[in-house]
Amino acid sequence: MTFLATDPLAASAGPAGAAMGTASTSQEARAGSQGQKATAAAASGPSPEQWDAAVALVEQAVAAGTTIGLLAHVNPDGDALGSALALGLALQSRGARVVVSFEAVPFGVPANLRFLPGQHMIVAPEQFPDDVPLVITFDTGSLDRLGVLAPVAATTPAVLVIDHHRSNTGFGTDLLLDVTAASTTEVVAALVDKLGVPLSEELATALYVGLVTDTGSFRYSATSPESHELAARLLRAGVRHAEVNLLVWDTRPLGYLPLLATALGRVKLWGDVVWTWVSVDDLEAAGVGLEEAESIIDVVRTAEQSQVAVVLKQDVDGSWRVSTRSRGKVDVGAACGLLGGGGHQLAAGFTSRDDAATTLEKFRAAVARTAPLTS
Ligand code: 5GP
Ligand code: MN
Repeated sequence: MTFLATDPLAASAGPAGAAMGTASTSQEARAGSQGQKATAAAASGPSPEQWDAAVALVEQAVAAGTTIGLLAHVNPDGDALGSALALGLALQSRGARVVVSFEAVPFGVPANLRFLPGQHMIVAPEQFPDDVPLVITFDTGSLDRLGVLAPVAATTPAVLVIDHHRSNTGFGTDLLLDVTAASTTEVVAALVDKLGVPLSEELATALYVGLVTDTGSFRYSATSPESHELAARLLRAGVRHAEVNLLVWDTRPLGYLPLLATALGRVKLWGDVVWTWVSVDDLEAAGVGLEEAESIIDVVRTAEQSQVAVVLKQDVDGSWRVSTRSRGKVDVGAACGLLGGGGHQLAAGFTSRDDAATTLEKFRAAVARTAPLTS
């Protein structure tokens, strides 16, 4: 398995690409003509040709007056949903018809993101029109991350993928991938500029939410001077940052507190992995949905004796959604890639149908097969 040391992308591209490899011939022709697959792993942002192609694709759809479908990954976070809503608002301001969707069971916007502007554009997957000529995906590293909407993106004639995951498989017909961007909203902001749309307060707020979510309020290593420069622009455009941050980080239903207590009460250290779990029964007892378990990892990962933090969250179908975080030495993105998931080097995830103990064992085995990060 030595290829992992140099090419974590190869590890994560396999399962998703193979499982969902149903792209139409016209999609393959478009992708091939742009050399997209070869550039998916590039260490910098999109090429000028990729920008030109993406802008032309969007401008054509706006001019044609056809509906543009905007898709976020399953159980969207602030970056995925903020990106989709921001571009949706920008396109609507240009007169375009847009529809935003994603998979979540039960369907709905996570409680702490319900203040995001542009919610009127959101429809459940069942309501997503089946004949849109252009689909744009956000913060989605592979087709399977679209869940029940994956077949839509696999068959739509034009699919623009806007993302910042190193593990991006290069699906779709057009790609705007910047692995140096701390959030997908950074890439969306650049596209909004190229489309000549000015930043309204609403548009800026949607972009800002993705930026603060994925940078952990500008703390994580991917945060760059450009991230701060974008934040400054967004604040100048009218973002009410104190209000927004209070809602994003510091507003939870009361049941979140006993849920957190339960999860923290059973934290264990196994080697250098600190871990805990939250079951469907725990969620029921606390009277909250799975979305409230998302931020538990942020507390668990503070254990200084650990290199890696893991939180297993049980879904209604009994499977475990696994969140992993690294303190810098372990490439959890590569490890999760070996288990059918993916993400970033320091923050990644996967889904498991094994029991909790087996899931953790397999994750530890995957970490052992992964080359350590050097810097
Ligand atoms: P979180 O733990 O916050 O859900 O996710 C951390 C990072 O890993 C995010 O960038 C997210 O998109 C990615 N991620 C989480 N679960 C999966 C998964 O099952 N597959 C892939 N490809 N990425 C995931
Ligand atoms: Mn993101």
